[in-house]
Amino acid sequence: MAEIIDNINAGGEEKKPLNFVQQIVADDLAAGKNGGRLNTRFPPEPNGYLHIGHAKAICMDFGVAEKFGGTCNLRFDDTNPQKEDTEYVEAIMRDIHWLGYDWGDRLYYASDYFPKLYDFAIRLIKEGKAYVDDQTSEQIAQQKGTPTTPGTNSPYRDRSVEENLDLFQRMNAGEFEEGSHVLRAKIDMASSNMHFRDPIIYRIIKTPHWRTGNKWNVYPCTLEFVPHRDLYDYFVHELAGESATEYCPRQIEFNRLNLTYTVMSKRKLLQLVKEGLVAGWDDPRMPTLCGLRRRGYTPQTIKNFIEDIGYTKYEALNDIGLLEHNIREELNHNANRVSAVLNPVKVVITNYPEDKVEMMEMDNNPEQENAGKHQMPFSREIYIERDDFMEEPPKKFFRLTPGKEVRLKGAYIIMCTGCTKDADGNVTEIQCTYDPDTLSGSAGSQRKVKGTLHWVSARHCVDAEVRLYDRLFAVENPSADTEHDFRELLNPDSLRVIPDAKIEPFLAQTAKVGDTFQFQRIGYFCVDEDSTDGHLVFNRTIGLKDSWAKQQGK
Ligand code: ATP
Ligand code: MG
Repeated sequence: MAEIIDNINAGGEEKKPLNFVQQIVADDLAAGKNGGRLNTRFPPEPNGYLHIGHAKAICMDFGVAEKFGGTCNLRFDDTNPQKEDTEYVEAIMRDIHWLGYDWGDRLYYASDYFPKLYDFAIRLIKEGKAYVDDQTSEQIAQQKGTPTTPGTNSPYRDRSVEENLDLFQRMNAGEFEEGSHVLRAKIDMASSNMHFRDPIIYRIIKTPHWRTGNKWNVYPCTLEFVPHRDLYDYFVHELAGESATEYCPRQIEFNRLNLTYTVMSKRKLLQLVKEGLVAGWDDPRMPTLCGLRRRGYTPQTIKNFIEDIGYTKYEALNDIGLLEHNIREELNHNANRVSAVLNPVKVVITNYPEDKVEMMEMDNNPEQENAGKHQMPFSREIYIERDDFMEEPPKKFFRLTPGKEVRLKGAYIIMCTGCTKDADGNVTEIQCTYDPDTLSGSAGSQRKVKGTLHWVSARHCVDAEVRLYDRLFAVENPSADTEHDFRELLNPDSLRVIPDAKIEPFLAQTAKVGDTFQFQRIGYFCVDEDSTDGHLVFNRTIGLKDSWAKQQGK
């Protein structure tokens, strides 16, 4: 069986089966529904930055349109001026473009339809299907009833049409305070569907809207999809009548993306930003698209991950290890290898001439045939990682230790002859000798030595700041913990800053903001926008160790 599968996979292009939404669309198109016109919509509320969960929706909405030759609207759901801002609108557009999608001229705002929606409200009032309620939202909630007991009618339910019209117009004219009046649909306080128990459809908000300013003082309430589907259909039917089928878009829900070790709620993410618990929406620990971008993630990796987890109807908690596995695979293939020492200790090669410098040839990327090489200076004094040396090592320590040999990557084999310590017993310098017959690439370099270390030349290396990012939360599913506030569950070690790591000169001279590299033996890093001329800042995208692949037995 395994053989058969291998043969199929080796047979060339892998053809992915359609996911269930794509299948519905394909069937509709095959049946000639709506004359073959396909139009999807992505409807973000501009009250925060997009996160990787939104990317799942974007890949579906824009992806289906792209795959089947349709169009996709970007429709901002801007009905709450208290929480919304142009900053968010611009960021949302930037992030959709970054993912590689475009809405063309199909950019819409719910606020474009405020006059129309207001007219609809007036119409419902005139038809006796809506009324102004003077009660507080608490009172209204108390009268809702329960799924098994009917609600109670509001004392204002039977106001005359004239009075309702007058009040609603005055609500919009700004005569009343926020919360003092709402407009409710007059449906059925005993309905078995709680959403039909006279839902609130308009409320007073006095904060100016970022697009329409002070023009409106009442704003429509928007609905989440699945639980409100019947109510949504009710309004479409009431307002469009016979032509309802033509107006009624088809909604297909799929499961949300939830990631381990993070939160996806915009409210919580905003709280982290506002309270300074992260550096901003684009903090590299955030699950936002701008955060992931700054962390060194690529749109392709995010799309691959979304493909991998797939679209179903089952709620799931997706393993962040799989996302990390995806970026690691991509960077393993694409990132140049360089040397950086994060926690340096000096090694003096006592038999190497004082002023001599040799340029060693280093492979840029062994995973690619034509990635080329770069030069790295070698001299008498070098830095290695402090934990690559132990004076009294345990068994199976194959790095540097007195009396033993290690290979310096791309250079020589060295032997440790001793070390110097300060008064507290900390190693301040290690002494070694090198074997001149073991230059990398020469016949002598073939000698069997267990460990290989990365290094930089002390005289030639350059200081850089390195930000070691880790997962934002210490627990797998912070949203499931009802005992603690989610902020208590943050990982206290999610960021460690090394102000003076030592990097090789090639890296210092060529790295540009956004570039990604593999620091040999450490992990993948990208150049942060905080870098200045002469001082680079690196963000750790991800370490080398792939816990996800290991778990899967790969
Ligand atoms: P919701 O509407 O579910 O409360 P939201 O309020 O966080 O999400 P919106 O701006 O309303 O954000 O979302 C825009 C679109 O993205 C909606 O279609 C929404 O369903 C979808 N979306 C939001 N979060 C996720 C997620 N975690 N996984 C998949 N889709 C999501
Ligand atoms: Mg929403």
